[in-house]
Amino acid sequence: MSQTPRLRARAEIDLAALRANVRALRARAPRAALMAVVKSDAYGHGMVPCARAALEAGATWLGTATPHEALALRAAGIQGRVMCWLWTPGDPWREGIEADLDMSVSGLWALREVTAAAREAGRPARIQLKADTGLGRNGCLPADWPELVAAALAAEAAGTVKVTGLWSHLACADEPGHPSIAAQLDVFRELVAYAEKAGIEPEVRHIANSPATLTIPEAHFDLVRTGIAMYGISPSPELGTPADFGLRPVMTLAASVALVKQVPAGHGVSYGHQYVTADETTLGLIPLGYADGVPRHASGRGPVLVGGAWRRVAGRVAMDQFVVDLGRERVEEGAEALLFGPGDRGEPTAEDWAEAADTIAYEIVTRIGTRVPRVYL
Ligand code: PLP
Repeated sequence: MSQTPRLRARAEIDLAALRANVRALRARAPRAALMAVVKSDAYGHGMVPCARAALEAGATWLGTATPHEALALRAAGIQGRVMCWLWTPGDPWREGIEADLDMSVSGLWALREVTAAAREAGRPARIQLKADTGLGRNGCLPADWPELVAAALAAEAAGTVKVTGLWSHLACADEPGHPSIAAQLDVFRELVAYAEKAGIEPEVRHIANSPATLTIPEAHFDLVRTGIAMYGISPSPELGTPADFGLRPVMTLAASVALVKQVPAGHGVSYGHQYVTADETTLGLIPLGYADGVPRHASGRGPVLVGGAWRRVAGRVAMDQFVVDLGRERVEEGAEALLFGPGDRGEPTAEDWAEAADTIAYEIVTRIGTRVPRVYL
């Protein structure tokens, strides 16, 4: 893997790995189209380059949470289907229509706003009706579905919308055999059947995220929406490792050691002196902190490969920097510190950091901050 040693810290983004992951995911769901979920700056990997790479590898849809993310894809010149699903009152519906987005509608308020925008724009909006089949988050509850379907049909008849999709989201897809999975799939099938009988003709029906794409074939329907797996991270350590699914982590977080110094036993390290050296030792300073997404919660625990061995964060992670205890290892300023990556070079993985910070690997990669340059390989 090529290096950029002059950068003090960097997130290397292996787009060939991302493309290979897209191909592996398509092979898992061969009858479904693949939506590359690129919200939240492609989970920290960089939205536009990742979107382009995913499309090159066979994704035919892109998915974002906010309309602003979707409009940024268009502003970058990306064509094709783009769906965005998290709307709030006053959002730019008209721009969404003019940019040919597929816009999720979870309730009557949204249908009112999108139809008003369609009248202003003088063309119908592409909308996808979202059902809450049991996640208990966004989406229309089954009890309100008939009213939403009737209103959408009326809007279709008036020429203000075209319903292109019916969709939902799973609550526990990463817990194999969880009873809510079958229950949600049953509700989804019923709501789709109801809408189709009433006259809706969706292009796509979809409910699967990464764990469902990897492990629940009956959830694939017409399209799968994959985020985390496309970035080469397993949705949950209980499901398996990325390699078990033929996936390769896309992001490597690396830094140059900024300062090395010898200190005696009894030397307090970082705010609060939560780490005190047991013996005379060597400390290494890593120029990344919680402002860059290194979790403060991993203070004392987060692993880093420096000088051929894993070191743990010594003391607290600060805003811009943290310290590792190098023991007797001879390391010089400028030496490479690998926080996480695919693991080929013996470095920790994002999952190791998730464990150290008591969180999920989604959060580790997504929070890598804007101060860290993304270097595309
Ligand atoms: N679909 C929706 C509605 C989402 O919010 C997300 C991400 O949270 C995804 C799909 C992708 O999920 P995953 O990253 O587990 O593939």
